[in-house]
Amino acid sequence: MILSIASGKGGTGKTMVATSLALSLSQERPVKLLDCDVEEPNAHILLKPSLDCNQAVSIPVPRVDEDKCNYCGRCAEVCAYNAIAVIAERVLVFPELCHGCGACSYLCPEGAISEEGREVGVVQSGQSGNIEFVHGKLSIGEVAAPRIINEVQKYLDREKLNIIDAPPGTSCPVVAAVKHSDFCLLVTEPTCFGLNDLALAVDVIKELDIPCGVIINRDGIGDDEVDKYCLKEAIPILMRIPLDIKIARLYSQGITLAEGMPRWREAFLELFDKIERLMSNSNGREGGRQ
Ligand code: SF4
Ligand code: SF4
Repeated sequence: MILSIASGKGGTGKTMVATSLALSLSQERPVKLLDCDVEEPNAHILLKPSLDCNQAVSIPVPRVDEDKCNYCGRCAEVCAYNAIAVIAERVLVFPELCHGCGACSYLCPEGAISEEGREVGVVQSGQSGNIEFVHGKLSIGEVAAPRIINEVQKYLDREKLNIIDAPPGTSCPVVAAVKHSDFCLLVTEPTCFGLNDLALAVDVIKELDIPCGVIINRDGIGDDEVDKYCLKEAIPILMRIPLDIKIARLYSQGITLAEGMPRWREAFLELFDKIERLMSNSNGREGGRQ
């Protein structure tokens, strides 16, 4: 099973949920935690894994042989990222903007473009207690987050429970992180900003046809608009984590909820039971429709 933990905005407590869920469940089944928040991975701060395996990640960037080039401009036309430009009789490549999609070399009519590897980040893996841990780290200033996320996802194992800590937001890296998921947990907070970003995230998850549920973190901080929205959209609220100075203190000290307040382990086990029940109900309905 692949379970992703996402949020429309950063700072909602997504990583606290992912790590506490992984710790709670790892006592009873094989668990993998894949931190796909590659621009700012921080699950390792909470789980403190050994990271004994390092793998550099590169993307193919174009190299132009101007002896073959006729300066037709086709490469610049097809590049969606403005990473290559043809100015008079010069072809300029901006490697920092290149996503390594390969379109320019594929479409160059003269075969003037070859590709060379450019390192954009690293994937590290190891162990944290019973949890197999993997995370990706995008190098500073680089843009190819989905490339790193795809490498992290090569560690997915359908025989185990895979918990993905997805990037915040609703852009390409989020889609790359959650696209294989069987279920997505959306962590939000009950404020107008939380609601706005939750609604955007729900749109993306529904577009991907992934069943989802909501966790309200810092419950009590705002109003009940998130509750009303979830009711209207028929999205189950699966857990509420109260606004509590003790929880905030644990997070600031790099301690998970499951370790710092062990009574929460039971709550995370119940959360997973609810997810399994929702999934088996929805599979049953789909089976009935066929
Ligand atoms: S598409 Fe090929 S031939 Fe045309 S400008 Fe680009 S590198 Fe040169
Ligand atoms: S590989 Fe893709 S992103 Fe990079 S310069 Fe070519 S078309 Fe643009």
